[in-house]
Amino acid sequence: MTVGDAPIEDEARQIEGIGESIEMATETRSEIRSVQDILRAACFAGEEHASERRKGAAQEPYINHLLEVAGLVANALTEPDTDLVIAAFLHDIIENTRVSKDDLLHKFGPDVAELVAEVTDDRSLPQAERKRRQIVHASHLSVRAQTIKLADKISNLRGILNSPPADWGLPRKREYFAFANKVVDGFTAPNPFLKAEFDTTQRKFENLTGLASQGKNEVPRTQGES
Ligand code: ZN
Repeated sequence: MTVGDAPIEDEARQIEGIGESIEMATETRSEIRSVQDILRAACFAGEEHASERRKGAAQEPYINHLLEVAGLVANALTEPDTDLVIAAFLHDIIENTRVSKDDLLHKFGPDVAELVAEVTDDRSLPQAERKRRQIVHASHLSVRAQTIKLADKISNLRGILNSPPADWGLPRKREYFAFANKVVDGFTAPNPFLKAEFDTTQRKFENLTGLASQGKNEVPRTQGES
């Protein structure tokens, strides 16, 4: 290296340094925007579902379910997917509130709107038909929609284990667990982290109901159930 080259090399290093700083600043800005977008979705979901409670005996605020589903999805990600976490927060919003797919399109963009629509049941149909369609459509869902559905089913199963509806006896709980199993069995690409959690939850239920059928008292009988 000659003495005359030094300033040019310094300048090149400086430019490289500026480039790296700009890249870091851009990454930081996009991370901040991602956190802001997710919180915006969480607040929106909280407002829209404000009057709803879970069916369980504890009557938990509905937002607890949405937080659980979004948390499960976020923990299962192997690469960033802000829209998927947002859609997880909003997965019941079309089904349970007056918010439409169009509203989601304007507020959160087409990707989120499509994802939420994909995991939305047609509420005009009877419950049995809606369940049948969930099983039939499971294999047609996109991989990302399968991730939301799987997290949703885990949350529902945990709800039945920890705080079942007061009028749900063992047969009804068994029926729901069997239904959830059929839906999840239909998935073509279940997220491995969530599938493991789903299987663990199923096993917990089987162990508890096994104990119950042996006449032990670990599973409290719900009201109205013999
Ligand atoms: Zn849900």
